[in-house]
Amino acid sequence: MWRIIVPTDRFTLLPSNQPTADNIRDNILQNPGFGSHFTDHMAHVRWTLDTGWHAHEVRPYGPLTLDPAASVLHYGQEIFEGIKAYRHADGSVWTFRPEKNAERFRRSARRLALPELSDEDFIGSLKALLAQDHAWVPTPASDSDECSLYLRPFMIASEAFLGVRPAHEVDYYVIASPAAAYFKGGIDPVSIWLSTHYNRAAPGGTGFAKCGGNYAASLAAQKEASANGCSQVAFLDAAEGKWIEELGGMNLFFVFKDGRVVTPRLTDTILEGVTRNSVLTLAKDEGLTPKERAISIDEWREGAASGEITEVFACGTAAVITPVGELVTDNERITLTAGGNNEIAKRIRTKLLDLQYGRSEDKYGWLTRLV
Ligand SMILES: *Cc1c(COP(=O)(O)O)cnc(C)c1O
Repeated sequence: MWRIIVPTDRFTLLPSNQPTADNIRDNILQNPGFGSHFTDHMAHVRWTLDTGWHAHEVRPYGPLTLDPAASVLHYGQEIFEGIKAYRHADGSVWTFRPEKNAERFRRSARRLALPELSDEDFIGSLKALLAQDHAWVPTPASDSDECSLYLRPFMIASEAFLGVRPAHEVDYYVIASPAAAYFKGGIDPVSIWLSTHYNRAAPGGTGFAKCGGNYAASLAAQKEASANGCSQVAFLDAAEGKWIEELGGMNLFFVFKDGRVVTPRLTDTILEGVTRNSVLTLAKDEGLTPKERAISIDEWREGAASGEITEVFACGTAAVITPVGELVTDNERITLTAGGNNEIAKRIRTKLLDLQYGRSEDKYGWLTRLV
């Protein structure tokens, strides 16, 4: 298995002169929550039409200065990624399949008419930031402790220009936030709301790209979900309102009685998760039969009632693998009659976490060392 060797020395370091005190950081790492504390530095690379990518730096974390006319603020030309850094038992710090995120980031960039960033700069920015802020990667207290440092690369159109065209000035940043498990209930099954008024993505749109606009468009549905006691929203395809696509920020899998593990096949309205891709491989390893195909809401309803479908789970970097207990709609609740123990979801989840935390052999070469 070959590995990309990435130099970090192209990033100039401007160290923070007021880094967080050790005891304060340790306190935060005891109970980091999700997405509310940030490390002392951020990585930054600038792009201009004339020069391309330049001015690589790691600098103190802090507010950005943007011209009020910056096009991201008006037209939403923005993309992002989500990837984690895991501390292994020997203290080293690793990340999971970053070349997949780098590739997806370029796919998103093309769709949003933003410049593409190389693997070297993408992975290099993670390494450069971690070289400074590795003390912020929490150490798991046990095998069931899913703490990590969540990394958030993002790219914004920063040119001060109100005309409508792709910006000529763009900034790329990486910020980092220590994280505990995403859902407070751990692997307790969650209730999912089925959005019937709102769509997330349409053919020819931006559904396959990881962009802020998709999330902005999903928030009204998310609000509806919360009002109905659900923690996430499931979206159907916009054309027919029949085919299951995914959640606002996670892909979906259906486990059948005969060992088939089905996930909706990729279209331009589904975001290809790195976790989804990894689950397809791990399911096969577990002797199951992974399948990518269209699956309808009717099949979910009927399979749940008949016991043909034994488990449903959602997956993504932030929440790993989360069993779905029931699907709630305006006029029905779809609950699985069979199973309820989510054995397959738990098995695949454990396999994935063991790999990410270095507790099992990295036989696919999925790990990249950051520190
Ligand atoms: C990020 C994301 C996912 C999950 O992708 P991972 O690479 O597994 O984290 C799924 N759906 C949407 C819409 C997303 O934005």
